[in-house]
Amino acid sequence: GTIVVAVDGPAGSGKSSVSKASARKLGFAYLDTGAAYRALSWFVVQRRLDPTDSAAVIDAIADFDYRIGTDPSGGDPADTGVFVGDHDVTEAIREPDVTAVVSAIARVPEVRTYLTGLFRTIIRRTERPGIVVEGRDITTVVAPDAQVRILLTASEEARIARRSAELVGQSAAHVGEQLHRRDRADSRVVDFMNAADGVTTVDSTDLDFDQTVDAVIEV
Ligand code: C5P
Repeated sequence: GTIVVAVDGPAGSGKSSVSKASARKLGFAYLDTGAAYRALSWFVVQRRLDPTDSAAVIDAIADFDYRIGTDPSGGDPADTGVFVGDHDVTEAIREPDVTAVVSAIARVPEVRTYLTGLFRTIIRRTERPGIVVEGRDITTVVAPDAQVRILLTASEEARIARRSAELVGQSAAHVGEQLHRRDRADSRVVDFMNAADGVTTVDSTDLDFDQTVDAVIEV
């Protein structure tokens, strides 16, 4: 069957870029589960719903037509992007207005159940020999019986520095505050700060990008 590589970790740990590069090297598919939480959040924002109104968010799921590419190699946008209905939301889901509401959306149990089902379907339909699945609850909830389970961590300082380098024009203090707030909110819902039983921790604080990818591949 398909080899599942589950990768969890906090914001700014390098999870997405490292998981994607590892998938590419291994010839595996790649699934960014945070992108799905962000896409639903984008949909809620676009509909001008109150993100803290769980009933409205749950209703929105019925109209949420979501597709995500699982090709890690960055070729055809249709194979790598994130789509809601006819909208290519690949970039919009990274905007601050979406990031600001995603934790509220992600704490609704019905949202988690729905998206977890979607992720399992995508994993099941993988045509490549394996898939790297990345998020907050992959090692514990989405794919606890994955053959490979990794917690990718880095010091908060390192994570803020990396995020700041990505988000040009925002001060490190502001980025740090947002990142800290999101991790605090998210870790009330799922524990991605501590490795569950059988999960291998890869600490990237003192590793560069390539070294981190190598460490993941090694596991
Ligand atoms: O990984 P990323 O930062 O893009 O994730 C965006 C948000 O989606 C997280 O802050 C969290 O609220 C939610 N999320 C989640 N469970 C996952 C992946 C993401 O709750 N497996």
